[in-house]
Amino acid sequence: MNLKFAWRNVGNEKRLVELEQDLASDKINHAYLFSGPMEVGKLTAAKFFAQLLICKFEACGECSDCKLIRSNSHPNLTTVDDLWIEGVNEDWDILAQKTNFNQSGRAKSPKAKTDIIRIDDLREILSRVNNTSDGWNVFVIHNIERMNRESANFFLKTLEEPPPKTTFLLTSNNPALLLPTIVSRCRVSNFGNVNPATIDKMLLRDFPGLTEIERVRVVNFSMGKPIRAKRLAENPTVFREFKEYFEKLKSLLEKPNVAEKLAFAEKVSTDKTEVQKFLEAFTYFLRSFMLTRARQPIANSRYTPAKLVGLIRQLNSTKILIERNINPRLAVENLLLQI
Ligand SMILES: [Zn+2]
Repeated sequence: MNLKFAWRNVGNEKRLVELEQDLASDKINHAYLFSGPMEVGKLTAAKFFAQLLICKFEACGECSDCKLIRSNSHPNLTTVDDLWIEGVNEDWDILAQKTNFNQSGRAKSPKAKTDIIRIDDLREILSRVNNTSDGWNVFVIHNIERMNRESANFFLKTLEEPPPKTTFLLTSNNPALLLPTIVSRCRVSNFGNVNPATIDKMLLRDFPGLTEIERVRVVNFSMGKPIRAKRLAENPTVFREFKEYFEKLKSLLEKPNVAEKLAFAEKVSTDKTEVQKFLEAFTYFLRSFMLTRARQPIANSRYTPAKLVGLIRQLNSTKILIERNINPRLAVENLLLQI
């Protein structure tokens, strides 16, 4: 598939072609929802689309607009990614690389303790709606399922009366949690997992130092997620953590021990990112466990196909509970006690 612009995505070309068609026909919707699993490139696509809209030279990377976008300080591009959270995300300089609305209110009373886009955050974000001097004013808001009901309703009012020359590029890996009235006002762009061969090609091109065995491992662990594949290839620590989770789950499955399960649940629930990493490792683990069992069935195993399917279901509902900010430790304990 031929793309006109130099997108940084790997895979999902059809979605990118559609976005290019919107640009070519000058039919930009006032809101887009980039929907699909985590780490497949939704935010990457949204950011590049924003740059295509703002830069007058097709996201050249060299003009003053592109330079301001690169330093996340363009007045007509608001990005909402990581949020200030007490005790977790407190480094303003690091936050400023990803999120550029004024977050100082989050550190004041009442302090924001969970990863929620609150109504006060939205007031700050939307105060930039009238920023625009000329050209597009673009808002990239990542994982909008973080909006609680109050803020989602507040946001809806803006979507209902979209300001001119303004577009919202929203992402979600769990659109089932969104207000249907928000989804219906967006052009939905469904991103999916990317096939292993495409990820392998990206690794060959971008990480020529990897051996073939390392590449196969990264492809397997990435489970169709190019962003994760890059993280794994770039950073041996991420790879090691993933492997450690894998080994730990294997030992818990072979020798179930309640005390060990509870201790492990406590360890992985220190923060939301850690829990998500663990749940992803668990998904990979169950998937490969099922494949092995399918090839070499073991008589009298506690892990019948039905039991494994049940575990996968439970794992998926745990992911949803965590998204909804249920106490992560309880959710993980509950999951581990099932194995
Ligand atoms: Zn440019």
